[in-house]
Amino acid sequence: MINVTGSLLERWKDVPESDWEDWHWQIGNRVMTYDGLKDILQLTPSEVIGVKRSKGRLLMAIPPYWLSLIDPMRQTCPIRRQAIPTAEEFEVSLNDMEDPCGEDKDSPVPGLVHRYPDRVLLLATEKCAMYCRHCTRRRLVGSETHLTSRQNFEQAYDYIRSNRRVRDVLISGGDPLMLPDETIEDILKNLRAIPNVEFIRLGTRMPVTVPMRVTENLISIFKRYSPIWVSLHFNHPKEITKRCKKACDMLADSGIPLGSQTVLLRGINDRPSTMRRLMHELLKIRVRPYYIYQCDPAKGISHFRTAVSVGINIMEKLRGHTSGYSVPTYVVDAPGGGGKIPVAPNYVISQAKGMFTLRNYAGNIFTYYEPAEEGQMQRVVPNQNKQTKKEVKTAEAKTAA
Ligand code: SF4
Repeated sequence: MINVTGSLLERWKDVPESDWEDWHWQIGNRVMTYDGLKDILQLTPSEVIGVKRSKGRLLMAIPPYWLSLIDPMRQTCPIRRQAIPTAEEFEVSLNDMEDPCGEDKDSPVPGLVHRYPDRVLLLATEKCAMYCRHCTRRRLVGSETHLTSRQNFEQAYDYIRSNRRVRDVLISGGDPLMLPDETIEDILKNLRAIPNVEFIRLGTRMPVTVPMRVTENLISIFKRYSPIWVSLHFNHPKEITKRCKKACDMLADSGIPLGSQTVLLRGINDRPSTMRRLMHELLKIRVRPYYIYQCDPAKGISHFRTAVSVGINIMEKLRGHTSGYSVPTYVVDAPGGGGKIPVAPNYVISQAKGMFTLRNYAGNIFTYYEPAEEGQMQRVVPNQNKQTKKEVKTAEAKTAA
């Protein structure tokens, strides 16, 4: 039997561990209806409306594992808010867009997005284990009906093969780990057979939402087509459970590099302390924080969006204050399809010929003198950054102590 620790987990206490640990069982037992959910959780009026209306695109689907992480006493539980639709999803704001990243216009063949010169995005499926309420691709995912066809894949392979500049393929969706192992192997085999493809990445949230999906067989497939890089999607430290760690350990122990993308979400991870904790916990499970995304203006998710200044403030509190490995790049995906734009606090105070005035993470100001250009005299300036003798002595005394 499963190890019952949380109050919601009680509900599945009679489920044999072999079932609980089977990802097919987790998918087959997702809670997808109002009647199913109201028996498990006391819903707020807004959730009742949201759950009842979320049909068609981005329906509700919550695996038992994810449900077991919900704190039933907290309506603001970050696990709950990412999974349960609310009435706010049906409010469309002025600047909301159907396709905020402009992917459809950069799609040369169905299921493929080609925006940057040397890399493409292969949308391998429209299904996910859980439909995140903040999903930016909600126009495409979540209907559970329309499957990507074999013909689409063939067209995508032909396109990649005939565009020799494409060296990097990101397999995403939806969640490609929703596909059967044989299909995943088939995709990897076909991509590896294309001479210009050097780098294959797979974007998935399943090691977070249904960690049981990481099986020995899946790992052996990844190893056969190595190197495969895996991009995960974590938004809150609560998602990093022992079970999730086990899945990430299996991947990392097999030599699969792991990165994480995080979406900045109002009321979920918009406090610097929460984000710092998340980044630290990721490093502990050998997942390198890669991006923090500003939440896109997709239709119906404006209640998750924050001001850009919130993200900049988070970066200010990370850079220099903690290990560089736990500092991802904060990006805004340019609305309409301009790609990712890095946004950061401004560390350059001023710039003049041959010199930069910079500030560090603690607010101290420094001048950096650039080398002279070829054929010009090196400018001789007093070294303002040099410590005084007294400062050196104080530092030495502190070290000796
Ligand atoms: S796993 Fe990714 S694609 Fe699927 S619903 Fe969540 S954010 Fe969207």
